[in-house]
Amino acid sequence: MEDGEASLQALTLARSWEGPLHAVHADAVEPFAPDAIAAILQRSADDLNVSAVFAAGTDRGNDIMARLAARAGLPFASNCIAATPGDPVGVVRSRWGGSLLETAALHSPRPLITVAPYTFRVTEGPAPIVVDVKRLIDELDPRDLMVRVSDHVAPPAGGVSLAEAKVVVSGGRGVGSKEGFAIIEELAGLLGGAVGCSRVVTSAGWRPHSDQVGQTGTKIAPELYIACAHGRLQRRQAHPGHQLRRRGADHDERRLRRGR
Ligand SMILES: Cc1cc2nc3c(=O)[nH]c(=O)nc-3n(C[C@H](O)[C@H](O)[C@H](O)COP(=O)(O)OP(=O)(O)OC[C@H]3O[C@@H](n4cnc5c(N)ncnc54)[C@H](O)[C@@H]3O)c2cc1C
Repeated sequence: MEDGEASLQALTLARSWEGPLHAVHADAVEPFAPDAIAAILQRSADDLNVSAVFAAGTDRGNDIMARLAARAGLPFASNCIAATPGDPVGVVRSRWGGSLLETAALHSPRPLITVAPYTFRVTEGPAPIVVDVKRLIDELDPRDLMVRVSDHVAPPAGGVSLAEAKVVVSGGRGVGSKEGFAIIEELAGLLGGAVGCSRVVTSAGWRPHSDQVGQTGTKIAPELYIACAHGRLQRRQAHPGHQLRRRGADHDERRLRRGR
């Protein structure tokens, strides 16, 4: 578990499984070391013989669970918005940045599931039993501590966070260069928004990866999304609500053409 609502949502889904709930905290090892937490989770799951493992579908939650899946040789269903116990377990997953839902059957003796944030209403229930992991930390293989957070880089002062921005001005390949983003930055600044970009742009080194929007970048939900010099695919996948808004705009255009 991590701090925050996303973990409480994962807990809500976990309560629909039978049996006692146990929790391992993602910050049990400081600084954050995903392999170490995955190793601790694996040992705890084996010791307690749990029927399923849940985590929040955050960057850290998905990171830990992917590593746990690789170590345990078990399938992993990420970013689920529903999961029904059974054999197989039925899951519904949010895919392509939320632009489609996938229904899948998970055949596994121990399903590993992360829960897409903000898709569950948190319900009250018994608190999980926190696993005492002191002994497991002492027994960690030093190789499990090789990947760890070494530094935190603060975003520029006064900048709007891309994930929470109400306005996002995003630039694509057609912007042409690092320097071409000056006008995108200017527009975002005037609108009090954040700058986004496509994967093509970050791969070209024009913008940092933290600015990338979409499935393998930051998930955004702005009220206004301005896509500049982007292809169709990125415009669609970048923002789950985008298609809905675009439809609204087309409708208004038709009304305008009809003089209404
Ligand atoms: C599994 C997977 C995950 C992916 N995840 C992501 C993701 O998270 N985020 C992401 O961004 N991409 C992702 N991609 C890549 C994605 O599929 C697209 O390739 C990418 O988003 C396209 O970026 P773009 O819109 O900048 O470029 P393009 O699609 O090449 O579009 C550039 C546009 O600019 C126009 N243009 C060119 N010159 C000008 C000009 N002078 N003025 C105005 N317009 C101009 C062109 O006509 C074109 O329409 C993923 C791909 C895969 C396979």
